[in-house]
Amino acid sequence: MKIIKQISMFLLIPILMFYISCINLETNNSAGNIEELDNSNSNIYITYFGTACFLIEDSSHRILIDPGDLFTDRFTAELAENLEPVDLIIITHNDFDHCNRLEYIKGVDSIPIIGTNSIQKDFPRFNVITEGSFTNGWINIRKIDIAHGLRPNEDHTGYNIQFADKTIIFLGDGATPLEPIETNPDILFVTIGGIEASVKNGVQLVTEIKPLNVIPMHWEILSRNAVRVRRFERTLDKQSTETKCIIPEFYETIKFAID
Ligand SMILES: [Zn+2]
Repeated sequence: MKIIKQISMFLLIPILMFYISCINLETNNSAGNIEELDNSNSNIYITYFGTACFLIEDSSHRILIDPGDLFTDRFTAELAENLEPVDLIIITHNDFDHCNRLEYIKGVDSIPIIGTNSIQKDFPRFNVITEGSFTNGWINIRKIDIAHGLRPNEDHTGYNIQFADKTIIFLGDGATPLEPIETNPDILFVTIGGIEASVKNGVQLVTEIKPLNVIPMHWEILSRNAVRVRRFERTLDKQSTETKCIIPEFYETIKFAID
């Protein structure tokens, strides 16, 4: 199954290359049941590993999201093996660029993984939790109904994550939720990959839900796509949104302080 997925992704390379050349041309022309959490006074730190892979941590807990790598070799197997232990893993869907390093993560057998049915099916020896919501005293997570932007029938989900007194919305490979989502979250992670969701989709979502901060992701396909993320930033700037657009460097850690 994984091999078939990998082969189908490689068949996508020519399409991606064509798409990227189009982008360059274009540029040349132009709440549920939420528990009270016990760690609501800490700063959080976010580290970007490329594609849609982020480490989110406070002084007590570490969460890894979408531990995969799309051709870029940034979240490598070696990096996954040497990562300091994490408390929780969250995965939006079972595409290899979102979970192909899962098996390499140190201690993964005993780490709770919030995921989808197909992740549970393909990784039967891991503790994959598929319920619509999850809570354990320091984090509350609720799934968001959102289709994969390229393959709408794929088993795919977004997440509303309450952690360290922050509301974090993480949408995987989609930018058009199928249900109302919380407005004014502290941080919105949204893909602007182009194939899954466009810059326009991302800007529209920011306009609708007005996050305090937005982190565009999944834009560096084949490592040539920086123009896209700068266009996203410029477009938000022109619209004078209150939202702060944050574009982390690879491996950079960004601190979010409590107000
Ligand atoms: Zn993806």
